[in-house]
Amino acid sequence: MNLVDMHCDTLWQLLDLKGEGSLYENDCAVNIQGMREAGTLIQFFACFTDVREYKENGGYEKCYLHVQEMIAYIEKQCLLFPEDIACAYSCDDVAKNQAEGRISAVLTVEEGGILNHKPERLEELYRKGIRLMTLMWNHENCLGYPNSQDRSVMRKGLKPFGIEIVKRMGEMGMIVDVSHASDGVFWDILQYAKGPVVASHSNCRALCAHPRNLTDEMIRMLAERGGIAGLNFYGMFLENEKGSRLESMTAHLLHMIDVGGGGFPAIGTDFDGFDSKESLDIRDVSQMEKLWDALKKKGVPESQLDKIWSQNALRIIREIS
Ligand SMILES: [Zn+2]
Repeated sequence: MNLVDMHCDTLWQLLDLKGEGSLYENDCAVNIQGMREAGTLIQFFACFTDVREYKENGGYEKCYLHVQEMIAYIEKQCLLFPEDIACAYSCDDVAKNQAEGRISAVLTVEEGGILNHKPERLEELYRKGIRLMTLMWNHENCLGYPNSQDRSVMRKGLKPFGIEIVKRMGEMGMIVDVSHASDGVFWDILQYAKGPVVASHSNCRALCAHPRNLTDEMIRMLAERGGIAGLNFYGMFLENEKGSRLESMTAHLLHMIDVGGGGFPAIGTDFDGFDSKESLDIRDVSQMEKLWDALKKKGVPESQLDKIWSQNALRIIREIS
């Protein structure tokens, strides 16, 4: 089974937290060994940066450099393990890597605030290989507002610079990611985006009332314009508590199919973005087969499983290639 995982924070773990191990072998939930076991076709690697870490020394300017360090890191890892993994910038790259038995690494940015009011940075990021940008993390930035328990924040949308960037992303072939955005930003993105829009790692608010998740209306409208959502394995977004069970993962995927149709759900694990030592039914990427089997037991046909595992995400990558 080919797997496309639209979100992991493994680069952050390796570079910022653990600082040891390689992409091949490490204590993270994602590594080459595990991806081989899972049959990974594409792993999206988020270059995640938290401006709070740089509050006193450089703010978003430092975050921009931090993201570039992450890009350099994954490029170096690809050179260290050339038989196993290579960066992919288009559909053709993915096909070539697959034919040569390699996993494709797709690079993303998780914190659009690094643009820091400089539109030319979007081109620079594209040239460096970024193909998806999560507009905001959990802070207000130059583009707009994040998800929040505070309703007044949740209603706020894109700023003028955010609108300009969202339009430009579609023109240049960069996927717009609504995960982490406020509801207001979500609806503004649907209004202004010219290319593909996804929720790379978000679940269903009808099943788990967390502001990081999508309402049914959001799912319907996102699906209508061809978008997709990747199932997030974090317990707080699955069932509002730590730990995550196969039962709730399958429930969210089935709900996505009910509301958004079979072309809507995908996988966006968020591996290494939360503590996977919590009681998880799927601790790392090597155990993905458990979810496949659980869905099969629920009667989901293989053709639909293939859509969730890879086909829906591949459709989006084809759109930007
Ligand atoms: Zn995230």
